[in-house]
This record gives sequence, C-alpha cells and structure tokens, in this order.
Amino acid sequence: MKREGVLYVISAPSGTGKTTLCKEIIDIFPNLRHSVSYTTRPPRTGEVHGRDYFFVGKDEFDRMVEAGEFAEWAEVHGNLYGTSLATLQENRTKGIDLILDIDCQGARQLKGCFRGGVYIFILPPSIEELRRRLNGRSSDSEEVIERRISNASGEIKEARWYDYIIVNDKFNEALEQLKSVLIAEQCRTDRLIQGLAKTFEI
Ligand code: ADP
Ligand code: 5GP
Repeated sequence: MKREGVLYVISAPSGTGKTTLCKEIIDIFPNLRHSVSYTTRPPRTGEVHGRDYFFVGKDEFDRMVEAGEFAEWAEVHGNLYGTSLATLQENRTKGIDLILDIDCQGARQLKGCFRGGVYIFILPPSIEELRRRLNGRSSDSEEVIERRISNASGEIKEARWYDYIIVNDKFNEALEQLKSVLIAEQCRTDRLIQGLAKTFEI
C-alpha cells in the first residue's frame, strides 16, 4: 500500500546516544533511512563522507544557503549543519521514511515549514551521565566537551514542544520505546486513509 514517507526528527544534547539509537533503529525498519546532513565540522576518526555527513567547506555551505538548497540549517557548537530540501522531498514522494538527527533550532525550522513530521527528543538520565558518555566517546577535546555540556541545559528546555520524549538510560529500553513510536506513527489514520480508499469504501 502506497503512502508518503514519514519524517522522524530526533534531537538530543550531544552525547545522549542519538547517533547510536538511530543506527540501531535503521537496521530494524527496512523502509527507514538516515538523512545525511551537510556540515562544516571536520570528520571524526572513522566518519565517512556521504555516509555520516557530507563534509563541506564554509564557502560551499554558504553557497547552498544562498541557493535555498537547505530545508533547515543552523550553527551548532560553532559549526554549520544543514539538511538538503531535495532529499526530504524525494524521499517523501517515494514513500521512504527518513530519520533526521538534528538540533532544536533546525527541528523548529522544519516544524514551521514541513508538514507531518514526528518530533522526538532524547534525554540522558542525568547531566553527570552525559559528561561520562562524552568523555567515554573520546572523540572530542576537553574544550569541545565543556561547550557541549554547557549547551545541554538550554537544549533540554526545548524538549517540551516535541511530540515524544525518550530517556536513554538503559539502551535497549530506549530503543524499544523509539521502535514503538515508529510503529504507532505508521498506523496513523491520516497516513493510511488515502491508500486504503483504493481498496475499501472508507
Ligand atoms: P550523540 O549522537 O547523541 O552525540 P552517541 O550516540 O555518539 O551520542 O553516544 C555517545 C556515547 O554514549 C557513545 O560512546 C555511546 O556508545 C554511549 N551510549 C549511548 N547510549 C548509551 C546508553 N544507554 N548507556 C550507556 N552509554 C551509551
Ligand atoms: P555532531 O557534531 O556531534 O555530529 O552533531 C552536533 C549536533 O549537530 C547534534 O545536535 C546534531 O543533532 C546536530 N546536527 C547534525 N546534523 C544537523 C543538521 O542537518 N541540521 C541541524 N540543525 N543540526 C544538525
């Protein structure tokens, strides 16, 4: 049954575990893909251009902003990040679900201009645990970690306008909750009714 692709927008303070959750959830739902963002941040060890991000220079990023190629973009922790508008439109039309791992500023922009998105906020169990996870990831400098921790409390205040909140304490429980949200959203009447009308008088 044909339906439009669903847009799942996930935000969380850096270090909460949203990248890890997003990677796992993609393996569970065959129709779900990760939307690859553009960023001016340098790649971390192990990150691959085109898979984790499209790593671009500031000039190229500015050109894309000017050309209206982003559905949303924002400066986060001192770097620029943006989502391609064409990617969102293409996947919606093809019926492919997309998961976007973006910050609150970007999520707000999308909520204002892209209909039908599902907004999910992931919280860490505590700020102390968030610090432990950022240190444990050992991919950022002390200074970068401190900046991310000090931004976390402002980001957490944004959680109240999201559709769902998931606390990533025990990883498997958080994953089950995320899975449940996706399954429920796929059963929403407004997503299915047009497709069903071809089979039933409904
Ligand atoms: P984010 O994408 O939100 O910045 P990551 O997915 O990179 O965060 O996770 C940050 C670190 O925390 C990683 O080392 C990851 O393995 C770890 N992590 C993720 N979820 C949990 C969890 N529920 N319990 C303990 N560690 C976790
Ligand atoms: P990181 O540098 O740790 O990969 O990501 C830092 C922050 O940037 C995270 O909060 C992540 O969600 C956010 N981010 C990643 N891609 C985008 C994007 O395309 N747009 C916006 N607004 N934020 C993004």
